[in-house]
Amino acid sequence: MEDTWVLRGVAPLGGDPTDVLVADGRIAALGADVATRDATVVDGHGLVALPGLVDLHTHLREPGREDAETVATGTLAAALGGYTAVHAMANTSPTADTAGVVEQVWRLGHDAGWCDVHPVGAVSVGLAGTQLAELAAMAHSAARVRVFSDDGQCVHDPVLMRRALEYVKSFDGVVAQHAQEPRLTAGAQMHEGIVSAQVGLAGWPAVAEEAIIARDVLLAEHVGSRLHVLHVSTAGSVDLIRWAKSRGIAVTAEATPHHLMLTDELARTYDPLYKVNPPLRTAEDAEALREGLADGTIDTVGTDHAPHTREDKDCEWAAGAFGMLGLETALAVVQTLMVDTGRMTWADVARVMSFAPARIGRIDDGPMAQGRPLAVGEPANLVLVDPAARWTVEPERLASLSRNTPYGGIELSGRVVATFLRGRPTVLDGRPVAREGATR
Ligand SMILES: [Zn+2]
Repeated sequence: MEDTWVLRGVAPLGGDPTDVLVADGRIAALGADVATRDATVVDGHGLVALPGLVDLHTHLREPGREDAETVATGTLAAALGGYTAVHAMANTSPTADTAGVVEQVWRLGHDAGWCDVHPVGAVSVGLAGTQLAELAAMAHSAARVRVFSDDGQCVHDPVLMRRALEYVKSFDGVVAQHAQEPRLTAGAQMHEGIVSAQVGLAGWPAVAEEAIIARDVLLAEHVGSRLHVLHVSTAGSVDLIRWAKSRGIAVTAEATPHHLMLTDELARTYDPLYKVNPPLRTAEDAEALREGLADGTIDTVGTDHAPHTREDKDCEWAAGAFGMLGLETALAVVQTLMVDTGRMTWADVARVMSFAPARIGRIDDGPMAQGRPLAVGEPANLVLVDPAARWTVEPERLASLSRNTPYGGIELSGRVVATFLRGRPTVLDGRPVAREGATR
């Protein structure tokens, strides 16, 4: 028999406190003083209960770069960050462009047991941008892939992008685009603007992102297919997506915690810790992203958790790898920026970090359903957050194998106290709870 838990006095989506009874992997009852016989009681007074978080944009690095992250360490970091499902990007070695590789990643996630792992399938063979990968084989594999992306690379050939959009319609998939016009960004190191001119690093202009988004929303409209825009980083991109949605185009969009919070001013340190693709932009861009997230133009917060070894980050800027950690800090960044400032409610947080990403990834249905309402009979995928906690990020204490967080020394509000995956705690008292027999 599964464990039975009573979460005493928690506030679902920040509303009125109540008890939650978790039994047999589901939410069995909600209300005052639910039965506690044989149940383990968690004192949840002062804690906000949210549906388990879902990330559409995680790099787990396995297979190929297990020195930077493994499926086991990355999903442990996810559980500690409040996630019950992550989508693992395809830019591994070998590339996740066949049924065999996506099934391998899916199985590694299942065996580790920290959260559900949904592999993203590559759009093109080897992310090379020329030949369409075996999308249907991945969709019909045990991993049931629904999100396809060459993330790290842009699908820049408009004919290939059109074919991918047409192809995924047959299994209700979505193409997730890393919008970066390659010719406009050859050799780019950081955002093109005043700071890049002053520090003397090659610029990555906003138009290189916006031109691809403009093209792709029109292609999605023409084909009648679903497009998801990864890591939107510029104010102009937010405007384009707002326009596309006003036309009824089936486009969704993501912002990352780092693009919401940080700016290109950090490049003045010449520390490649702040080197990321797309680059950190201006304060005006970050503000446009926060506004877009609050008004629903931006649908999701995706971490773009991108672990890199010390060797790949402790070097001069131009030689450093692009990318930042994100899974263990995303919720706190969103609370600090959006909830503490009154721009979003906890219900909004549940929307952008659980309901919407689960819906976009088509994992909101069936026995493995995620991103479901906190209601009786639903799978008990839950995160309990202490919104009053304040903490300073210490890179050495993160569960990720890598240390490249841009938030070291920064104080954030909100800590994950507990995470439940289908009724089983993966995190309690802020510490991991390994499943019996799980691999490490
Ligand atoms: Zn990307």
